[in-house]
Amino acid sequence: MSEPDEAEAERAALADAAEQGIHRLAIPTPFMVGRVNAYLIEDEPLTLVDSGPNSGKALDELEQLLAGRGHRIEDIGLLVVSHQHMDHFGLASILARRSGAEVAALDALAPYLAGYGQETDLDDAFAETIMLRHGIPSEVVTALRAVSAGFRAWGAAVQVTEPLADGGELRLRDRALRVLHRPGHSPSDTVFHDESTGTLLAADHLIAHISSNPLLARPLSHVPEPGEPRPQALLTYMDSLRQTREMDLRLVLPGHGAPIRDHAGLIDKRFRMHARRAEKIHELIAAQPRSAHEIAQELWGNVAVTQAYLTLSEVLGHVDLLLRDGTAREEERDGVVRFAAA
Ligand SMILES: [Zn+2]
Repeated sequence: MSEPDEAEAERAALADAAEQGIHRLAIPTPFMVGRVNAYLIEDEPLTLVDSGPNSGKALDELEQLLAGRGHRIEDIGLLVVSHQHMDHFGLASILARRSGAEVAALDALAPYLAGYGQETDLDDAFAETIMLRHGIPSEVVTALRAVSAGFRAWGAAVQVTEPLADGGELRLRDRALRVLHRPGHSPSDTVFHDESTGTLLAADHLIAHISSNPLLARPLSHVPEPGEPRPQALLTYMDSLRQTREMDLRLVLPGHGAPIRDHAGLIDKRFRMHARRAEKIHELIAAQPRSAHEIAQELWGNVAVTQAYLTLSEVLGHVDLLLRDGTAREEERDGVVRFAAA
């Protein structure tokens, strides 16, 4: 589609959502991804799905966007959290305090949100172990620890008052939303399906303009033991996408960017991209065994250093595809893993 067509399609899709009482509020974030989409559902109670990061700027803009629709923060009765990333839930704590709103999130995510500070310490420790094991130099790991600590305040602990079960229903006066756990981008990704309209609030599970990265994260339930197999985020994510692909959807409202009409076509495109990337990685390890960090450097150069964890997650995800298909194997020496063609 040309750009004017795309803008027109976006306006039409947002108008479609608005007719259902769902309004996109794009909130600024300090992250590369740009704005995050919160969705205001004008129903009873007044509901906000995701809220933006914990910052004065995000709060100001949210307040103005709400006012533009005739609402105050104090009017919000329900806050819904889609997943554990701070650009989505960071403001929830302040909003809950000011409005007295209930906070709904997947039951397995509730302890994480309540213990945000300690939980992110555990996340960082997990990430460091993974990075060292996959060839990222220790000075880079140390530098990244400081970056992560600097970002932490964009999130804030929040108490979940309405834990949601996977497969359960979130009932508002005028609609029921089916709660579906779709892990992969993060362990807690949750999507909300209005079966009567075919609308899906998808957060970062599916985004039109960027491929959602399956970030390698520790399981929500525990801290992995040494020697425990690492989680396979991309395989998990692709299973989740396969489930979403089978759904009958008219409109997907993502956590960033424009609404999606053809979810099946977009998911197929993602599958092809992942297959191509796995193939490319297979060529690299067929030439010589390499650590995941060395593979990332081959693919992305210096970005593999500045975005070491992100690119490492990308590589490991695709290596997992090769390991599953039996076309790669893992060799460990002196605590560092290298991958070779099998
Ligand atoms: Zn996210």
